[in-house]
Amino acid sequence: MTNEKVLRTMLSNEQKNDTYILQQGKLNNEEFIIVEAYGDKEDRYVNIMDQQSIEYGYSDEYTFCSDCGNIIRTSPNSYSWQPDYYIGDGFIVCNECFNQEGYQQDYIETLINECTRVNQLLTDDQLLEIGYTQINRDSYENGWHEGQNDDPKIIYNSLTDKYNNIVFSLSEQSQFYVRFDVYVKND
Ligand SMILES: [Zn+2]
Repeated sequence: MTNEKVLRTMLSNEQKNDTYILQQGKLNNEEFIIVEAYGDKEDRYVNIMDQQSIEYGYSDEYTFCSDCGNIIRTSPNSYSWQPDYYIGDGFIVCNECFNQEGYQQDYIETLINECTRVNQLLTDDQLLEIGYTQINRDSYENGWHEGQNDDPKIIYNSLTDKYNNIVFSLSEQSQFYVRFDVYVKND
C-alpha cells in the first residue's frame, strides 16, 4: 500500500468534515507526500505520518516539476541550502530536467552582466562547455569575517571593458559568508 493510501485509510473514519489536500510524488527518488491541512487537522496528519514514518512536507515549501512531476523543495531548510530548480516563464523544473531539457541557455541569459544575481544551477563543467572561462583562481568571499569583503559590483565594474559577458557563480554559501567565482566570455 502506498503512503497516500495508508494515510487515507487511517483518516477515513474521521475525515468527513475535514478540508485537506494530499498529493503524492517522489522527492530524491523517495516517496513523499505534500500536505495542505487546516487548523486542528494538521496535528492529526503529523501524528499519523510520524507514526508511520512517512516523509512529508507542507505545500508552501514544495511543488511539482512542470516537466517530470517530481517534487521540488522550494524553501530553505539550512543556511547552506541552495535552490536546485529553474523557474522559467510560467513553469518550474527540477535540476534533472534542467540538465536534460536544454534550459541552460535560457538560464544563463538571466545571469549575464547581472552582479546581483548568481549562478546556482550550472556546474563548472557546464559553464566551460558553453564557452565561459573562470578568471579568478581563489574564490571571492563576502561575509562577516575579516577580509571577506569582495564586492561583486566592484569586480564587475573592473571587468566590463575587457569582457562583454560576465557571470557570477556561487561556490559556497554558509551562515556567515558566501564564496563565489567569476566567469567571462567574449562574443
Ligand atoms: Zn523534473
